[in-house]
Amino acid sequence: MNDLTSAFQELSARTGYSVNPIERLSERREDAGFVAECAADASAQTLLVAGEAMILRREGETITSFFPLRGIEARETRLERAFLGLDGKRPVFATLIAPDRAEALKQEGLLAIDLRSIAMQGLVPPPELGLLAEAKALMNWHQRHRFCANCGAPSRPSVSGFRRDCPSCNTQHFPRTDPVAIMLAVREDKCLLGRSARFASRVYSALAGFIEHGETIESAVRREIKEEAGVACGRVTYLASQPWPFPMSLMIGCHAEALTDEIVIDREELEDARWFSRAECSSILAGTHPQGVACPAPFAIAHWLIRSFVEAG
Ligand SMILES: [Zn+2]
Repeated sequence: MNDLTSAFQELSARTGYSVNPIERLSERREDAGFVAECAADASAQTLLVAGEAMILRREGETITSFFPLRGIEARETRLERAFLGLDGKRPVFATLIAPDRAEALKQEGLLAIDLRSIAMQGLVPPPELGLLAEAKALMNWHQRHRFCANCGAPSRPSVSGFRRDCPSCNTQHFPRTDPVAIMLAVREDKCLLGRSARFASRVYSALAGFIEHGETIESAVRREIKEEAGVACGRVTYLASQPWPFPMSLMIGCHAEALTDEIVIDREELEDARWFSRAECSSILAGTHPQGVACPAPFAIAHWLIRSFVEAG
């Protein structure tokens, strides 16, 4: 069994944005000659990011996010570019263009769609969705980090788009990933779900929050559940993770063993939080809950945290 086969069997691979077959060749990123050769290759493709919109095109009956690199760079003003690696033998890049190009490209018959909608509507195959997520997160990072955080001077992209260097104070800035813990507190035959006021009506999900400095994943999980729902937890178990490029997070999914029953809701964070029995969760997943309670779709890691709880019963 090779690495890719085993990776595809992991729970993480069932979430959206997680399957990414690119051979990153991170050790070649500083080899400017090699990357220039890849960019000059007639088969080189790029993924186009215009702010929050991804640019797609129709190819016969299907939709693709791949554009020939040379054709695109001949006609679009490139703000940033990164070498993502090889997809088979084909070099793949990501190109950032101005957000206001999205509307103009739509007028020309291309599609400009946000990445959530692309995932929800299943517009591209999972491996392409993973690549789009990588391209979006990396390009969004460049877009938001144009100045040195140390001295304020404009910084410059380097290492084929995987670093920014400050020419004034020589600080090197690396692409950022923000870890978020997303978790299900489980107590015997029930689990804790909450809903935020911004969720669609009757949707309940796992609780979540950013992991802070000086915290382990486990302590962040326990703190978030305690803060948002007043429930104390003990043992924490990691289940799966999901790249979440909004703008550049990694969701780390866990189950936590709840030690107390009483719920005290933090109304700033949640509109409601309740215990749901395993049978109820099963009906939520099947879309047959008597009160019409629903949970996030299978592209979201929360869905798999709930499904794992049901299947463990
Ligand atoms: Zn600087």
